[in-house]
Amino acid sequence: MPKMFDKWRLQSPYYDDSHHEWADTVRRFVQREISPNIDAWERAGSLPRELHRKAAEVGILGLGFPEEYGGVREGVDPFHGLISGVEMADVGAGGLLASLMIHGVALPPLIAAGSAELKQRIVPEVLAGEKIMALGVTEPSGGSDVAALKTRAERKGDRYVVNGSKTFITSGMRADYYVVAVRTGGPGARGISLLLLEKGMKGFSQTPLEKMGWHCSDTATLYFEDVEVPVENLIGEEGGAFRGLMANFNGERVGIASSSNAFAMVCLEEALDWARERETFGVRLNQNQAIRHKFSEMSRQIFATQAWVDRACDAVMRGRDDAGEIALLKIQGARTMEYCAREAAQILGGASYLRGCKVERIYREVRPNVIAGGSEEIMLDLAAKQLGYV
Ligand SMILES: Cc1cc2nc3c(=O)[nH]c(=O)nc-3n(C[C@H](O)[C@H](O)[C@H](O)COP(=O)(O)OP(=O)(O)OC[C@H]3O[C@@H](n4cnc5c(N)ncnc54)[C@H](O)[C@@H]3O)c2cc1C
Repeated sequence: MPKMFDKWRLQSPYYDDSHHEWADTVRRFVQREISPNIDAWERAGSLPRELHRKAAEVGILGLGFPEEYGGVREGVDPFHGLISGVEMADVGAGGLLASLMIHGVALPPLIAAGSAELKQRIVPEVLAGEKIMALGVTEPSGGSDVAALKTRAERKGDRYVVNGSKTFITSGMRADYYVVAVRTGGPGARGISLLLLEKGMKGFSQTPLEKMGWHCSDTATLYFEDVEVPVENLIGEEGGAFRGLMANFNGERVGIASSSNAFAMVCLEEALDWARERETFGVRLNQNQAIRHKFSEMSRQIFATQAWVDRACDAVMRGRDDAGEIALLKIQGARTMEYCAREAAQILGGASYLRGCKVERIYREVRPNVIAGGSEEIMLDLAAKQLGYV
């Protein structure tokens, strides 16, 4: 729990008692179940399935999802979701959020457009933490240009036959269910559909990828060789997936901005603890103007980002979110994290380069926040179009 966020939350008009109580609940869960184990999970290269069940029991997995599938919507707003991410960010491991919460981006397209039978079969198991879900959009040939994806699904009677590949897929090794974007029609956005693939389908295989960070989040390349998928596993209309996939990004991007800012707070706080103790040239490090200005500058960016995150979250809650503004907010969050990770590492000196220091891990984990969920260049371009600059 970054202390800065506590102060912010307690003073903010956006948060009421239910938010403070939820923050306490998640914090206790993090202290009990995650903090003592995160380093071991990082070394193991994945999260234990048991964690999903435990997170489901306290309500983290089902938050904001429909009650008929085991979720909790009553008295829940998007701020509760952001609070879960901020509290979990305190352990300074981006892979934890990515892998444990990937259903937060994989399930919404299914809930929005899937058949009643498919939803009833899949969603409760995922929200109970019994099954793990992944979202497969990016391909080896590229991720930014979603409308150009190549994985092909040909309808043959009551089956689709899928051929192609996906890469960088979070929880791609452990997942039981995969929401996969495929081409069922001609070129461009209108040819794209979503299919639900299941682990163990003949011709469907996965290989793990080694990464710079997010070590506790397993990431995989998926291969489809004549995989036969029942037509009942089509999610929504054939050729109608693109708009839903794009709409899905707004909530994800506000979440990335919020957790990026939380990681920035963790960096600031770890560096501050250090600077208050460490002595150089006969004085504490934080007594140097050059160093304390770093803390003020980090804080300036963190406060500005948090105010923007709250404003955007409020707009999402009211159904008035703006994709262009959210694209810029995502950049703002990731840049704040990037800046604070660098400055905190500088303040910690050589200690920032050693395992066991949160800043060391956060520093290695900046890139996914800048690139995944919409890279900086693509976000700037989207904003320019949405805000009417072209
Ligand atoms: C750790 C991690 C986890 C991920 N998890 C998932 C997941 O679960 N599911 C999933 O589907 N994907 C996932 N991704 C993939 C992610 O969404 C893509 O990496 C991202 O969309 C960018 O695609 P790309 O890497 O293929 O880069 P490319 O699209 O090849 O782009 C390369 C670079 O060029 C820039 N660029 C591209 N086009 C332009 C242009 N027109 N103008 C200017 N610059 C441009 C991009 O900004 C980028 O910096 C994950 C990625 C990472 C790193």
